[in-house]
Amino acid sequence: MSANAFKEFQKIVNDVTLYFKHQRTLGMEVLAPEDAQEVLKVLDGLEENLSPKKKTLPCTPGTLDTVREELGECTRCSLSSSRKNIVFGKGNHHASLVFVGEAPGGDEDVAGEPFVGEAGQLLTRIIQSIKLRREDVYICNVIKCRPPKNRDPKPEEVEACFPFLKKQLEVIRPCLICALGKFAAQTLLGTTERISKLRGKIFEFQHIKVVPTFHPASLLRNPEWKREVWQDMQLIQKLLEDNACSL
Ligand code: URA
Repeated sequence: MSANAFKEFQKIVNDVTLYFKHQRTLGMEVLAPEDAQEVLKVLDGLEENLSPKKKTLPCTPGTLDTVREELGECTRCSLSSSRKNIVFGKGNHHASLVFVGEAPGGDEDVAGEPFVGEAGQLLTRIIQSIKLRREDVYICNVIKCRPPKNRDPKPEEVEACFPFLKKQLEVIRPCLICALGKFAAQTLLGTTERISKLRGKIFEFQHIKVVPTFHPASLLRNPEWKREVWQDMQLIQKLLEDNACSL
């Protein structure tokens, strides 16, 4: 297959994937016969363009399980000596929407799951406010081990851990990332801009749209920011409903 044909192939697969992800977000669980016919037509067209010798893709992104295996019992930074559990991430492996937080806190360190404490309960309500359930989305953090006393992550910890977040996002390829708080937003966007300036706007990371908002923990401390978070979630809901995933 030529480079152009391969690009075209990737685009079609991407579009079909986004279409079905969106349908699933809207509650579709089975494929209607007319939809199945459409998919078969697209696949038939692809088949014609593929040379018989090269039907496999040059590279496949793997799965979240392979990323988790690669991470292993990580000792790439010093957080490994104080953590109880690695908090890899949890949720729908085919999610249209991924929430990225900073790092696990005490509750998450014990549970081995992201956002299970008070801020996590608020995050659940935020997700429900756009008619989704926690299990519809994927939730993870930039840093996978708890920093002692919940201090800010250090640059060498980000350097060790960020490649795994990148791989998770490459595998899931969501329509949209919601960066929770300053740390996640600044890390994903490579900026030092304040969260109050970044929130509610649309950015890009690895060709995936990113909408930053305030971190649920800071919302607990500053309930007056509820209105802004509500607006940001309305934007996210609209982007998902319009299937406006491509940049
Ligand atoms: N805060 C985060 O940023 N992540 C968690 O998982 C929990 C609290």
